[in-house]
Amino acid sequence: MDFIYIDFDNGVPRLAYTGCSRCSSLIGVSLCKTKDRGCCYYFPKFYPVEIQRMCRSEDGMALLNKIISMPNVVIYDDHFIVKGSYDIILHHKMLKDCLVPSDKNIKDTSVFFKTCPFVSYGLGCTLPPRYRSYVCNFFICSEIVDNPIYKDRLEPYIRERENYVRFLEWENNQLIMAMREEGITFVKDFSAAVEFLKDTEINQYDFPVLNPVAIHDDNTIGA
Ligand code: SF4
Ligand code: SF4
Repeated sequence: MDFIYIDFDNGVPRLAYTGCSRCSSLIGVSLCKTKDRGCCYYFPKFYPVEIQRMCRSEDGMALLNKIISMPNVVIYDDHFIVKGSYDIILHHKMLKDCLVPSDKNIKDTSVFFKTCPFVSYGLGCTLPPRYRSYVCNFFICSEIVDNPIYKDRLEPYIRERENYVRFLEWENNQLIMAMREEGITFVKDFSAAVEFLKDTEINQYDFPVLNPVAIHDDNTIGA
């Protein structure tokens, strides 16, 4: 039996699925060096809401400093992205040989050849959920979410995820506007932007408690 439920890390919600450790969803297929990385092909983006959380504690600040000094960090005015690996040569070769899996839900087949820099073989994500991007904390593949056997029971999760993402986007826009008013951007002066975010209030979101959804193994496609 597997479960989908909401987990909290220091008040930060995360949609968890116990079957992810045995992922067999198509989107979780890795044709790159790191196997068994589930759907961690994403190159995470960190916006003011995530950076604001990190700079409020010593361990978060230490993590932020570590992340920002990683290779392949690209800083933009209002966020930064940490690029992982992408085996473009193998991708193009397999495309030429018609060996890349295809599915109507997968528009960009480069996902099979990419690995997030924070995923570790056998350990999964090395970032604490409280500091992850909300994209990471709330992604769940279509094999799970669209399964007709439990799709209806997942509907409250999808609805609450949408509400939460709207809240975070609004918060981000407020923070970005406040930074702009002060003439601060991450590109101009990263440290000044962090100092500014340290002093701004964090508005908490009261994520509702949802009933866990039980999934019988024989009903599970994704894992
Ligand atoms: S969300 Fe889906 S694709 Fe991602 S690890 Fe879990 S089962 Fe695999
Ligand atoms: S940050 Fe963590 S959860 Fe997000 S894609 Fe990378 S390894 Fe996966």
